[in-house]
Amino acid sequence: MMMRKDEDFTGWFDRVILEAQIVDDRYPVKGFTVYMGWGYRIARAIARILEERLEEEGHQPVQFPVVIPEDAFMREAEHIEGFAASVFWITHAGDTRLDRRLLLRPTSETAIYPLFKLWIRSHADLPLRIHQTCNVYRYETKATRPLYRGREFLWNEAHTAHRDYEDAERQVRKGVEIYRYVYDRLGLSYLILRRPDFDKFAGADYSVAFDTWNPDGKVNQIGTVHQLGENFAKAFELEYEDEYGRRRLASTTCYGMGIGRVIAAVIAHHGDDHGLVLPPAVAPIQVIIIPIPFKGYEESVKRYAREVEAALKEGGIRVAVDDDDRLRPGEKYYKWEMYGVPLRAEVGPSEVNERTVTLVRRDTFERSKATLEELKERVEDLLERLYQNLKDRSWNRLEKEVVWAENLDELKAQIEERRIVKVNWCGDPHCAFRIKDEVAGEVRGTPWDGGEEAKGPCIICGGEARYVAIVARTF
Ligand SMILES: [Zn+2]
Repeated sequence: MMMRKDEDFTGWFDRVILEAQIVDDRYPVKGFTVYMGWGYRIARAIARILEERLEEEGHQPVQFPVVIPEDAFMREAEHIEGFAASVFWITHAGDTRLDRRLLLRPTSETAIYPLFKLWIRSHADLPLRIHQTCNVYRYETKATRPLYRGREFLWNEAHTAHRDYEDAERQVRKGVEIYRYVYDRLGLSYLILRRPDFDKFAGADYSVAFDTWNPDGKVNQIGTVHQLGENFAKAFELEYEDEYGRRRLASTTCYGMGIGRVIAAVIAHHGDDHGLVLPPAVAPIQVIIIPIPFKGYEESVKRYAREVEAALKEGGIRVAVDDDDRLRPGEKYYKWEMYGVPLRAEVGPSEVNERTVTLVRRDTFERSKATLEELKERVEDLLERLYQNLKDRSWNRLEKEVVWAENLDELKAQIEERRIVKVNWCGDPHCAFRIKDEVAGEVRGTPWDGGEEAKGPCIICGGEARYVAIVARTF
């Protein structure tokens, strides 16, 4: 049965995540989702790319406890205000009420900083950079949605401490660069926005966010990087001794990438009416070999399929043979298309005789033949082309989604069309709030690394525009 991604994105998405065994949302606690085999392998592959990059850039892997004591959580005023309503509390052990309530981490600053205070003694201990891949817990009151918004979600969070604000500022840039690297490997397009002050991370000086398009017109935030300045350092007394023996306050940053939302973006950007299309960097299987048995050739086809597999494996390609005799080749095509495996290799009697392989691209369904000798190079080339094609398509779509609006009526119309809209904005939060009241979208922020200059009057008050603001629907 065909699925129409463009006509019914939500129905398409729900079916794909279940049929391709990404996640199962039927766990009997609302907002909690089960990763299944294929989905978790993709999740780990994404996390691994990020972790390796972070470690190359000097971050140590750590694993902090999931519980945070109440007094640590209560130290930074803005942070409490931002997160208190969505915290899960542990109040009892058996029948005994705990003297000191514990909470499940909604994010780990308040778990990590009491230890940073012990680890940071002198300037020689700085910068300090750590990261962990873990689950965090937030009692979301907005509608939950598998991969996009859950009450438990898998993410990677990095936390850094520095000798001064300028060094933390360099780290913010580095964090943005690291995240770009990961999204680029996945062929995802994105906007990098500085969030307006009223929407920054609770306790941050400012926040930078990666937003990306979604087929339903609601932008998907796939990562954030925060300059925390001295806010948390003050609350947690993160002091160090500088070269001259003076006590000084550190500056900190943090950044987080929700793995589920990144998978959602991969599915939403690259998938088609046949199911998933996976970027080769995170495809658990990059080439699936389908033997096409023919009377009298059953054994030679199977043997040859194994030979093809060995040749690719030796070349470092993630490959598997589907020799399940219960399924016909057509059923196997359907299955592996749903799973998004980038390349299909068909081997039948003619391939056995010619010592060739028929390769079919998952993105374009283009077929080509390769000899066994040239197979590895041809596969690498096709994987690269497929990746480039996914990336180009994603960026082209983003370019089409982003439009200008000169006045409120235009903005309303464009948001109705589910576009991502640029407007002139004076920077006054009241004008941003008016936008939220008037249209079905909100100000997501201003382009982080400059870009277009504001020109003309603010779309709301008519005052001089200082920024180009991005307005979009959110889920
Ligand atoms: Zn204004």
